[in-house]
Parts: sequence; C-alpha cells; structure tokens
Amino acid sequence: MHGLTEGVARFRHDVFPAKAKLFADLEHHHRPPALFIGCSDARVVPELITQSEPGELFVIRTAGNLVPAHTPAPDGVVASIEYAVAVLGVTDIVVCGHSACGAMTALAERHDLSAAPAVAGWLRHADASLARSAGGVDSLVRENVRAQLANLATHPSVARALAERTLTLRGWVYDIPTGAVEQLDTADGPPALAA
Ligand code: ZN
Repeated sequence: MHGLTEGVARFRHDVFPAKAKLFADLEHHHRPPALFIGCSDARVVPELITQSEPGELFVIRTAGNLVPAHTPAPDGVVASIEYAVAVLGVTDIVVCGHSACGAMTALAERHDLSAAPAVAGWLRHADASLARSAGGVDSLVRENVRAQLANLATHPSVARALAERTLTLRGWVYDIPTGAVEQLDTADGPPALAA
C-alpha cells in the first residue's frame, strides 16, 4: 500500500475542501459527456491527459485498450459500453492507445505469453490489429486503435447512436515521454482537435 493511505489523507485535507460543492452536486448527477477507453497502463491517466473534473469522464481501462466485439454473454466491458451510451447518453467515445504499450509490444515482438495464459487469451481481441499492422510497435498501436473502434461499432447501443448521429468516435495515441496526443484519421471522420 505504498503511499496510497497517505494519498487519501492528502485528498481529504488538501483537495476535497476546494471541490466540496462539486462533489455534493455529483451525488445526484451523473451525466458524463464522454466515454474514454484507455489502457490499464499506470502511465496513461485519462483525467490528467484530458484535464477532466470528476463527473466528466466515464472510463473503461483494459490491457491494450482492447474492446471486445459485442457479445450477448455477460461481459464487464460490453456492459460498461452499453451503460455509457444507452443510459448515460455520452456523445463522444475516445479509444486511446499509447507509446511503449506492454500489450502491443508483446504482440508485435511475439513474446512468449505461456506463463500468462489469461493475457494471451485477452490479446486475441487484437488479432485484427495485428493483421492490419505494417510491423513494429508504433504501427500496431495505431492499427489497434482503429480495430478497436471497429469493434466498438458492433455494439448495438453504439451502432444505434452512430446511425442517429448522436455519437462521435475518436482514435487517439498518447505519447508518454512528450505528453502529445495524436488524433488518428478514422472512418468516422477526420481529427476534430489539434494534437
Ligand atoms: Zn498499454
């Protein structure tokens, strides 16, 4: 628990008081405008990168920012996407990959994952990404974001919102050492924000 308890104490004493009204309002109000799907990697912090306040970003983080295609079987990622789109009504979804991604590196460099069978199985959701990649980690990171955006569109709630033009999908790649965010051209349209 290195530093976590101290961090909570600092939050309570130094951070919370300045935002007390915001937190009080949020108790009965949960209407985030955006869903951010990023990697579980500790170096990629969605709220920090986007400078979002509590209540502004619905977040799903998975190894490799992978988004399983829709399945009717119980699945935490599938359920979270449906909740964000169909219930909370988010109008933007970002799938964000990043430099030096461990998951993408393992795939691009064909690491032996026999000691981590759950990881190996999960990374099969990047099969299409691998097939589209020109080779190398950087190429795979980008093709993976595009492939996961395609997977996202297989979810009925997402497909419905796209058809009704109430939802925009975006693909980003975050560069850890520089903090730059690259916006990828996607089938859904050109980049909307400056990197
Ligand atoms: Zn990663």
